Amino acid sequence: MELKNKSLFKEECYIGGKWIKSINGETIDVDNPATQKTIGKVPKCGKDETRSAIESANLAFKNWKEKTAKERSIVLKKWHDLILKNLDDLAHIMTVEQGKPLAESKGEILMGTTYIEFYAEESKRVYGDIIPDPLPDRRIVVIKQPVGVVGAITPWNFPSTMITRKCAPALGVGCPVVIKPASQTPFSALALAVLAQEAGFPDGVFNVVTGSASEIGKELTENPMVKKISFTGSTEVGKILLKQSSSTVKKVSMELGGHAPFIVFEDANIDEAVSGAMMSKFRNSGQTCICANRIFVHENIYNEFLQKFVQEVSKIKVGNGLETSTNSGPLIDQFSLKKVKDHVNDAVNSGAKIAIGGDVHQLGGNFYQPTVLSNVTTKAKITFEETFGPVAPIYKFKNDEEVINMANDTPFGLASYFYSRDIGRIWKVAEALEYGIVSVNTGLPTKAEIPFGGVKESGLGREGSKYGLEDYLEIKYISMAGI
Ligand code: ADP
Repeated sequence: MELKNKSLFKEECYIGGKWIKSINGETIDVDNPATQKTIGKVPKCGKDETRSAIESANLAFKNWKEKTAKERSIVLKKWHDLILKNLDDLAHIMTVEQGKPLAESKGEILMGTTYIEFYAEESKRVYGDIIPDPLPDRRIVVIKQPVGVVGAITPWNFPSTMITRKCAPALGVGCPVVIKPASQTPFSALALAVLAQEAGFPDGVFNVVTGSASEIGKELTENPMVKKISFTGSTEVGKILLKQSSSTVKKVSMELGGHAPFIVFEDANIDEAVSGAMMSKFRNSGQTCICANRIFVHENIYNEFLQKFVQEVSKIKVGNGLETSTNSGPLIDQFSLKKVKDHVNDAVNSGAKIAIGGDVHQLGGNFYQPTVLSNVTTKAKITFEETFGPVAPIYKFKNDEEVINMANDTPFGLASYFYSRDIGRIWKVAEALEYGIVSVNTGLPTKAEIPFGGVKESGLGREGSKYGLEDYLEIKYISMAGI
């Protein structure tokens, strides 16, 4: 790998301040999704290494929580600055293991640093309360304290931001972390650990364990020393982790699957809706949990929207993310490609028309053509399942009530989008959509200052903003008498 700072590329885990291999010496190959060639190996750790990381974190907890918020903030800021200093190398590592174009990798890493910057400050504002007591000689005092060791399990689609978004608030309020990155993208996580070590987090405060997802996940969820699980990934795995966490009644945050509706009302600015849909649908080749999955367009503007949208999609340049002209990379693996093929074929068999794309890309491997399907019917699988690929199904609707019902007709409730200029409609629709995030007239609602999270089967808890701190804090009520 061509890096200026070669120390960022680590093929070992970071546990208790030491770089280690797996106990039995086993490794996992990590492939570049653009070339399908192996770029390196990481340790295949399991239960024992995870337990050792948890024990180190638990030991480190006492001193870390007793530091002042300002002392912790100084280390977080140092980590932030080191990430910025190594931006080019970190982006290179991400593109090579994840596939997204270099510009998107840089954008993601920069976005990731905003969580560190935000929580380095916000963690200083963990306020309590003094509540008037009904009895005259008493006072009710409420304080907030860090939960303890946090297990963070992260996905491959955002290999850097999903880590900083969980770790910055946790570390900021005094919780050590044990991170299990996705097996497809461990090198971004390990590079962040190199920089965390350099920033000066004490040994045991920041740990990264790579290896068997089910073994590491089981230990993290069932070990009583872990007090909190923060997971981003599929609803299917989230449900397993919730079950496992119940044995020790852990606090949990779950950022699970989405199935975002994207509604374009008759009064929308169509050009802005097209550019919002491009951003929401095709970022990361359609592999984000807040990607537009069902685009509903009012019948009176359907043809105009479709024609303009297809024209924009035709400009996407698919390729290896390391080439500067590329603005859409490959899918993560063959499993994902198969799902995309299946969804497109099924939609076509149930009556949809291919407006553009509709097949694997001529580059072969894990590449798929950016695709738009028109006249999609509600019978198609794509109407009910998340595709996680560069496929935009477009549906026609007649009125507000109909489209709100269609939008809410899913067990998921993460992000939703709509375009309108009518203030009355904007309020009504925003309140009616059963989603944790409602994005009005923009295709990109994410930032550190907002509470990101879903309702229904899309999850529990919020990440980002002042609300994101609460997920790593316990409330303690102190009853004071004899005053
Ligand atoms: P995706 O569809 O994005 O790959 P997954 O839910 O499969 O989502 O993966 C998200 C994260 O959860 C990854 O780090 C993965 O390794 C991990 N994971 C997968 N299966 C399990 C499991 N049984 N227990 C714990 N973690 C798991």
